[in-house]
Order: sequence, then C-alpha cells, then structure tokens
Amino acid sequence: MESVDCLVVGAGFSGAVIAERLARLHQRKVLLIDRREHIGGNAYDYPDALGILAHRYGPHIFHTNSARVWEYLSQFTAWRPYEHKVLAQIDGQLAPLPFNLNTLQCLFPEAQAEALTQKLLNTYGYDSKVPILKLRQQSDPMLLELAQFVYEKVFLGYTTKMWGLTPEQLSPAVTARVPVVVGHDDRYFQDTYQAMPAAGYTALFEQLLDHPAIQVRTGVDFFALRPKL
Ligand SMILES: Cc1cc2nc3c(=O)[nH]c(=O)nc-3n(C[C@H](O)[C@H](O)[C@H](O)COP(=O)(O)OP(=O)(O)OC[C@H]3O[C@@H](n4cnc5c(N)ncnc54)[C@H](O)[C@@H]3O)c2cc1C
Repeated sequence: MESVDCLVVGAGFSGAVIAERLARLHQRKVLLIDRREHIGGNAYDYPDALGILAHRYGPHIFHTNSARVWEYLSQFTAWRPYEHKVLAQIDGQLAPLPFNLNTLQCLFPEAQAEALTQKLLNTYGYDSKVPILKLRQQSDPMLLELAQFVYEKVFLGYTTKMWGLTPEQLSPAVTARVPVVVGHDDRYFQDTYQAMPAAGYTALFEQLLDHPAIQVRTGVDFFALRPKL
C-alpha cells in the first residue's frame, strides 16, 4: 500500500468531508476506505434500469440551517430546488404532515378545529414546534385529547413500522425531528436551505473526493485491513 498520512474509514458524508478537508486544507495524503462497494454512505444513489436516480438506502433530501454547510457543499454541486411535502391518509382523509394547523382543519369539524387552533396558539405561540412527547404532557384536556389523536394516528404506526419501537422507546431527539407545527408551514422540513444535488448525491461525493491527494478504496473493511497496517 502506498504510504499516506491519514486513513479515513467510511466514505459517507462524515468521512468524505474529513478526507477533503485533510487533503485540501492541510495538504495531507489521505486513504479513504469503505467496506461497501461504493462511496456516499447511506446517501448513495445510482441510476436504476430506467436511468432514474434511486437511493439504495432510503430517500435523502438535503436540508440544513447552516449557511456554512450550504456554501461548503455548493463548491461541489449545483442544486435542484426541492421542498418536501407529505400527505398522509388519516381516517380516509389526505392531510399534510408534519401535523400542523392545516392538518387540524382537514381532520376535525370546523368549530373543533378552530377551538383547538386557538388553544395551541395561546399555549405555544404561532410557528412554534412542539415535540409530540411534550404535547402528551399537557394538562389541558382538549390539548391532551389532540396529543393522543396525533400520537396514535401519526407517530405510533410510523415509528413501529420504521424502527419496530414505540415513540417512548426512541430517543426524544428522534421524535422531535417531526414536531407538531403550530403554524401553516406544510413542508416536511423547515430548514433555510433545502434542495437536491442537481446530478445526485454520488456525483456530489465524486466531486468532493476529486483531489490528487485522496485515494479511495471501496469494498475494504477496516478490520480486515488493520492487521496489514
Ligand atoms: C432511510 C434514511 C433516510 C435519511 N434521510 C435523510 C434526509 O432526507 N436528509 C438528511 O439530511 N439525512 C438523512 N438521513 C441521514 C443521513 O443518511 C446521515 O446523516 C448520513 O448518511 C451520515 O453520514 P455518515 O458519513 O456519518 O454515515 P454513513 O452515511 O452511514 O456512512 C458511514 C460509512 O462507513 C462505512 N463503514 C462502517 N464501518 C466500516 C468499516 N469497518 N470499514 C469500512 N467502512 C465502514 C459504511 O459502509 C458507510 O458507507 C437518512 C438516513 C436514512 C438511513
């Protein structure tokens, strides 16, 4: 193996960015390995049989509130504007998620929706984001009933299907990622910067790692390599 200054394990966002920074900023020779047969980690995408870019490990929508992160990655990709909006079928009715004031209007009779909206606004303020586990601690019976409705219709089925766990068994940070929104913003993410890399994620990683001081080896497990180091 050619001698290098640094070995980076894992060619997902973490490893690829570390490799790029070590090479470009610190002039280090870097070997980046990944045990999978490709770069990109979980964000890896590839053209399917019809030439449509597909995500092998689940869809990824780029979103961040950090101008620094956005500007950094913009060196390696152009962007396709994209904001994710989701409609879920709840009791036979299509309604926007994350649960917000529009969802309330879709699912409850007008007078009840209005009363609940006022309660939410008075309690949390417009545009606040309330984690479901926090809403379930409400002492107000109307809000508690709403919390129970949202918990059962939205969170319980979803987390059970996704992770095989109830919301309580998940880290609160995970359930807080999809809060109840006391506002009318129907977007799945509320971050300032949201988009898809114009040519896909794998192309972004290829640009990120396109540096003479970075060698990339895929299909190499660190634990298999370690005895040879
Ligand atoms: C289904 C799904 C949907 C997601 N959707 C989004 C989204 O919409 N937006 C968003 O911002 N984030 C999303 N994420 C999160 C995103 O995937 C992660 O934040 C990101 O991939 C983390 O990058 P990472 O480099 O830390 O880890 P990873 O992408 O997991 O990369 C780690 C790499 O290390 C390699 N590796 C591990 N052990 C070894 C070893 N011993 N030897 C060699 N290589 C090794 C692995 O093969 C892997 O390729 C989603 C995640 C999943 C699973």
